[in-house]
Amino acid sequence: LRKKKQDHTKILDRLLQGSQTALGQAITLVESNNPTHHEQASAIIEGAIASAGKSIRIGITGVPGVGKSTFIESFGSHLLKLGKKVAVLAVDPSSSISKGSILGDKTRMENLVREDMAFIRPSPSGDSLGGVARKTRESIMLCEAAGFDVILIETVGVGQSETTVHSMCDFFLLLKLAGAGDELQGIKRGIMEMADAIVINKADGENIKAANTAKLDFKRALHLYPTKESGWMPEVLLSSALYNEGIPEIWNLIRSFERKTLENGYFEENRKQQSKFWLLQSINDQLKQSFYQNPEIKTALEEQLQAIFDKKTSPFIAAKQLLEKYSKL
Ligand code: GDP
Repeated sequence: LRKKKQDHTKILDRLLQGSQTALGQAITLVESNNPTHHEQASAIIEGAIASAGKSIRIGITGVPGVGKSTFIESFGSHLLKLGKKVAVLAVDPSSSISKGSILGDKTRMENLVREDMAFIRPSPSGDSLGGVARKTRESIMLCEAAGFDVILIETVGVGQSETTVHSMCDFFLLLKLAGAGDELQGIKRGIMEMADAIVINKADGENIKAANTAKLDFKRALHLYPTKESGWMPEVLLSSALYNEGIPEIWNLIRSFERKTLENGYFEENRKQQSKFWLLQSINDQLKQSFYQNPEIKTALEEQLQAIFDKKTSPFIAAKQLLEKYSKL
């Protein structure tokens, strides 16, 4: 046990000095489902938390093929040139099925992969969205403690994953493609509402005209939404991730967002609200887990279920009795 203690103290020390190897090891502990690793991870997080928080967290979403990887490569490279340290994380609850399709294939991030100032980590796999979310949130903190000042969190729009990423980032970017005038169809309404910017990618070559049309359509659509709590008016920009066009403009936009929301207090307030949300969410998850995994509750639950089937009690009364039993355990 003492050796393990020393191990995680060493990892923490090196992580705080900016070691990518230590960061990778710490995230591996966070992602592990082994209880001993959990304890070590908690100790590292406790030691790292005071140094975390000093970054801008940017969520990036879009359908497969829209150019997320290419965009992150181009955007990330731009940030590196500005002297930033960039971490790329992913939230992909389907990765246990698709075997880590996002960031699994790093061939489109060749430049970032080579850079010392960039850290890329694929989505934790084999977990529910809730599990992936917890791990990603903790990984964000670890990246920040290791000195990464821009955190990119990529997700494909599977199920609720966009909402989950939105609830852990400061700025939410939606990547879109220009189509044949039907851009606004087939877009989940909630996603438009979450977006702080819509970027129409692949605005190059023959696509430019359609991209400009799509830009106007999206702008018009965004105006129909009520003003955001942040006071920020979402913008629509064009990019060609492949040819590195429109990339500095997107970073400048994010910087204006950051300035504005730091000034009006939304930036901090939003992070506080997010922390509160994750606190309550974690309590819910842990309560549920400890309840349903308790052997006595498992037996009692079966008994109550049978009693319901036999019309001896109602689901409501049974639930009340089970919770009373649990609170006395
Ligand atoms: P992802 O599935 O969203 O991560 O998309 P990828 O980054 O893998 O890109 C899908 C395909 O689109 C690849 O063949 C890219 O080379 C291409 N692509 C990405 N961005 C652009 C762009 O700005 N312009 C053009 N013409 N192609 C692009």
